[in-house]
Amino acid sequence: MHKERLLTPGPTMVPEDVLLEMARPVFHHRTPRFRKILATVTEGLQYVFQTQADCFVLTSSGTGGMEAAVVNLLSPRDKALVVRGGKFGTRFGEICEAFGIKPVYIDVEWGEVINPALVKQTLKEHPDIAAVFTTLCETSTGVATNIKAVAKIVCATPACLVVDGISGIGAMELRMDEWGVDVLVSGSQKALMVPPGLAFVAISDKAWQRIEAKKHRAYYFDLKKARSSLTRSDTPFTPAHILIVGLAKSLERIRGEGIENVWQRHAQYADAVRKAVAALGLKLFAKRPANALTAVLAPDGIDAGDIIAAMEKLGVTVAGGQEHLKGRILRIAHLGYLDKLDIIGCISALELALQEVGARVKFGAGVQAAEEVFAQPLDASSEE
Ligand SMILES: *Cc1c(COP(=O)(O)O)cnc(C)c1O
Repeated sequence: MHKERLLTPGPTMVPEDVLLEMARPVFHHRTPRFRKILATVTEGLQYVFQTQADCFVLTSSGTGGMEAAVVNLLSPRDKALVVRGGKFGTRFGEICEAFGIKPVYIDVEWGEVINPALVKQTLKEHPDIAAVFTTLCETSTGVATNIKAVAKIVCATPACLVVDGISGIGAMELRMDEWGVDVLVSGSQKALMVPPGLAFVAISDKAWQRIEAKKHRAYYFDLKKARSSLTRSDTPFTPAHILIVGLAKSLERIRGEGIENVWQRHAQYADAVRKAVAALGLKLFAKRPANALTAVLAPDGIDAGDIIAAMEKLGVTVAGGQEHLKGRILRIAHLGYLDKLDIIGCISALELALQEVGARVKFGAGVQAAEEVFAQPLDASSEE
């Protein structure tokens, strides 16, 4: 017998009260009952994003939110700057290209982090860039982008800053209004602890100016239409309202804990996992590690996939590497509905798995390092 424990960067585990809320009989969505829930959820998302900007709930996976950002903000032949340091930065570039937008790429080696000065220089070389696309947490590499620094640079230009916060939001600090992020995208199945199926997009006044100035092209993802519906706490099309009911519950949990405490808790989980893998003699892949997940290099001569399979036998699911990193890294996600014992359990499973695949391992070394982190009081300075 074993229990299933998901330590993957989406989907994540869903709290019992959220699951129960979604298990109630289905009701109709064009009702005061649903409008009230949508209004509450909109406010809850604004709190999580730290913004007063319009926040939309779209019925799609997170990528739909990325596409909504691109098609609403830009027109064919517009110029965009895309930071490409992993699978998800690459995806923004692919979406731009699919809609005839010509990206200027800043290519960052996977595992490395963008130097914000490079964004500044590129914007100077191409003053006609309309939008900058980047990722809060590049989930494929475990790298955290310094969004605050990038935002400071983009704010001083006419360009809009679009941030993919799908895996980062709700796990890592981001203050949309204070930092000056123009479009923030997130999704339901990561730190927000809801099953897959919802994307969230927030739009600043600066971004609205661009959206309003352009001839409209989107249909399903038309945010002007969504804005007009939202004034009535409504959506243009049938929303995945049962997921939104679950989201209301999970946002209530986040509000109850306090967003700063949620960020701090994730910082502590990240610290515990990083120290645990170091104690096991393993190396981190990311140069600037995110607090949402930790990418770990497999020991020399060992396929990360074998470690993951051995952990899976204990009921602990972690993710492998994508593309050329397949077999080379494992990605331990520590976001969403997890407690300290889930983290310790995962490290213990990692130790047992390393032994099983024939790696050298000192039982308890990783667990001890994690416990030492958890024995310390939460420290605000460890916040990412
Ligand atoms: C998970 C993820 C996505 C993709 O979201 P889907 O819900 O699979 O469409 C995009 N960007 C980042 C950074 C992610 O972690």
